[in-house]
Amino acid sequence: MDVLIPFAKHVATNRVVSVDEVPRGNACGCVCIFCDVPMQARKGGINREHFSHQPRLVDDEHYCPASFQRSIFWMARRILSESREISLPSYDLTFDEPHYGLRQSSTLVDEQRLKYDSIIFPYFLSNLAYDVALLNVGEYTLAVTLVFGGIDTPGAFVYQEQALAHVVIEMRPIELLFDNHKTGFRLLMESLLLSSLEGKRWTYYPTQEALAESFKAKFEAAVQAFAKQENERTRRLN
Ligand SMILES: [Zn+2]
Repeated sequence: MDVLIPFAKHVATNRVVSVDEVPRGNACGCVCIFCDVPMQARKGGINREHFSHQPRLVDDEHYCPASFQRSIFWMARRILSESREISLPSYDLTFDEPHYGLRQSSTLVDEQRLKYDSIIFPYFLSNLAYDVALLNVGEYTLAVTLVFGGIDTPGAFVYQEQALAHVVIEMRPIELLFDNHKTGFRLLMESLLLSSLEGKRWTYYPTQEALAESFKAKFEAAVQAFAKQENERTRRLN
């Protein structure tokens, strides 16, 4: 069965588009992002709007590697490329050593509307179950990993031997959003990706290492002070 593909490539503009951006049917001027077959835009039915391959151009043998999730990644690339701002949550980090009564909470990054100067996608998308965008923020580069659950997302994003600041965006809320709407998928995605904080979390910011070091030093000092106190107590008892 054909997947209900939410996005296609508009040939004249070379953009990834949603159905509401183009005329209905074969007149949509779009091809499949994944196999290049001309598409038709399906709207106005009981289903949510979607693209499908023009039936006359594909037979049962036609193989197309389209998937819903990969369509989403392609549209995410368009949205992130056309914007220069993204809303991000704050990054709060807590170190805790309850045995020594030590606890330190810090906000490494405030909640903000982050402006970026440029963006690149360092990987070829077709073989990945996730996508990565590198945002040039001026003083640093932020790696943004888009995932649909289920993959390990390490702290820093290591790129060309540099540990980059890293935000992970969980894309499953987009799937849910699509289930509840029939149209307007680009705009829905745009507001979730650029304006909402839902599903977004920091996993690394370069200053956290210095914080971790200073907490470790406090912890070691506490351990030593405690040991010294214990020694003195033992000496007094003897
Ligand atoms: Zn296709």
